[in-house]
Amino acid sequence: MRELRDLYQEVILDHNRRPRNFGALADANRQAEGYNPLCGDRIQVFLHVEGDQVQGISFEGTGCAISQASASLMTEALKGKSVADAHALFASFHDLVTRGSDDPDRLGKLAVLAGVREFPIRVKCATLAWHTLEAALAKRDQPVSTE
Ligand code: ZN
Repeated sequence: MRELRDLYQEVILDHNRRPRNFGALADANRQAEGYNPLCGDRIQVFLHVEGDQVQGISFEGTGCAISQASASLMTEALKGKSVADAHALFASFHDLVTRGSDDPDRLGKLAVLAGVREFPIRVKCATLAWHTLEAALAKRDQPVSTE
């Protein structure tokens, strides 16, 4: 278990150091901002949605390693997925970090964030990008706050 934890740590640190899909998306047609006042994390999610497909996704943000790595992993997981799949993946991810998942394999690399479940304050860091994604999909103009 120890080694598995170290591996998870490695993936999180790697995504924090070299976030994937980082920066504004030139052809974004949806975007939203999220803020987690407890930790100071800020995330902006950009989407290019065509029909019911997430054709492009990127983010910008500042904050702790968990919030940034979670956003980076989310963009990797969702590119090319349908909007319905994006909602479903958020539901699975939310289960994973709040009460544990029955089937963590389904989440692929996102499963590295399972450990935050032991730290309730970190759950907000891990889910900020996803709440922001939901706001962007719903075209809500109000910034999202985890509070
Ligand atoms: Zn945080």
